[in-house]
Amino acid sequence: MRKIIVGTSWKMHIHSMKEGEKLVEGIYRSVGYVKEVEMFILPTYPMIPMIAKKLETGNIKWGAQNICMMDKGAYTGEVPPLILKELGCSYIEIGHAERRATFGETDKDVHKKVRLSLEYDMIPVVCIGETEEDKREHVGNVRLHTQVLWALNGLPIEEMKKVILAYEPVWAIGKAEAAGAEYVENIHGYVRSIIEKEYGRDVAQAIRIIYGGSVNRDNTNLLTKQENVDGLFVGRFGLNPEDFSQIVKTTI
Ligand code: PGA
Repeated sequence: MRKIIVGTSWKMHIHSMKEGEKLVEGIYRSVGYVKEVEMFILPTYPMIPMIAKKLETGNIKWGAQNICMMDKGAYTGEVPPLILKELGCSYIEIGHAERRATFGETDKDVHKKVRLSLEYDMIPVVCIGETEEDKREHVGNVRLHTQVLWALNGLPIEEMKKVILAYEPVWAIGKAEAAGAEYVENIHGYVRSIIEKEYGRDVAQAIRIIYGGSVNRDNTNLLTKQENVDGLFVGRFGLNPEDFSQIVKTTI
């Protein structure tokens, strides 16, 4: 049985500590204690200690939106993974479409980051998804196949099972509509079939595949009803405590 998981990344939408404090307090209050769903919030790095303090009690966890590929050394401007662990991070987002497009993050970088997260006992949430162009040219499946293999290849089986894949079609991020529930279910089924073929049924059944891209309180129900959708990754609508709380509760 795969436990439902709902997470939100604040990206760089929250511009001050004060705003972040207000938002996390609002989410904590609105969501309350929901034992059926695993939940997480990913703020920007400097907000993590504050978030950790606010979420100390309750069952909403936290993490980071990125991790360095290296664990120590002369890498100006980077954050050592051990510090993220020390700050209580449970989840690490890796390979979001914005990082791939704007910061040139490659599949190989994603692979290194997955390994490091697991090494420091933090769960990688690996974003995968085809672009608009991939979809138009009918090569979306090729993209997904490559991304899944880069994310998982070479990991010990027990470690592999901890990875969460977030299917986020690039063309559905920041839009008015999410991808259709049936479309999403087909892709999640396809991703699970890749995992089964490459690493076996046991791993394929254990790995959670969540959906992200314009998730809101209205499309949550249909999306999470799908057999292969194990939860949601929320962007803009996670910035409103009531919306986030409603999304979480709708998945139960
Ligand atoms: P969105 O962002 O919900 O604002 O579309 C989703 C994401 O990028 O994960």
